[in-house]
Amino acid sequence: MIVDYQNDFNPGGALAVPEGDRIAAHINSLAADPRFDVVVATRDWHPPGHGSFTEQGGVWPVHCLQDSDGAELAPGLDRAGIDVVVDKGQDPGTDGYSGFDGTNLAELLRERGIDSLTVVGLATDYCVKHTAIEAAGEGFGVRVERAGVRGVDVEAGDSERAIEEMRAAGVEIS
Ligand SMILES: [Zn+2]
Repeated sequence: MIVDYQNDFNPGGALAVPEGDRIAAHINSLAADPRFDVVVATRDWHPPGHGSFTEQGGVWPVHCLQDSDGAELAPGLDRAGIDVVVDKGQDPGTDGYSGFDGTNLAELLRERGIDSLTVVGLATDYCVKHTAIEAAGEGFGVRVERAGVRGVDVEAGDSERAIEEMRAAGVEIS
């Protein structure tokens, strides 16, 4: 599962994650690995006036507006390796950090016989964390690869704390 690997979260984007561009090669190599049955890419896909934006009292600048360039998957990502794109964050009243929040992701995975997930993408301390922890809560085996994630680190150490939270929720960190 490739979380929110979008232009706005890459360098130059509205909510750039430091070194976000550095993980593309690792993600692409995973996506091309035949041991994975399904490769899902989530997109943060917000309507105008989403509750997470500062203008609505949220904590983030406007980012990943539906159908904008910023919401497109970043060009470093090899689209050929992606089987399904799942859009999240469409409910204006929720953060929409998790790929499972307000989507059919859990059903989609179960229909395809998936019982374990490897999660990579952006950002470690928000959407990766929430997606991985919710996946574990849904009963999936979950692993996060450090080489395939980067964090925002609004406060120094946020990403490491997120890693520990995921581990405490039963997520394997490799
Ligand atoms: Zn967002």
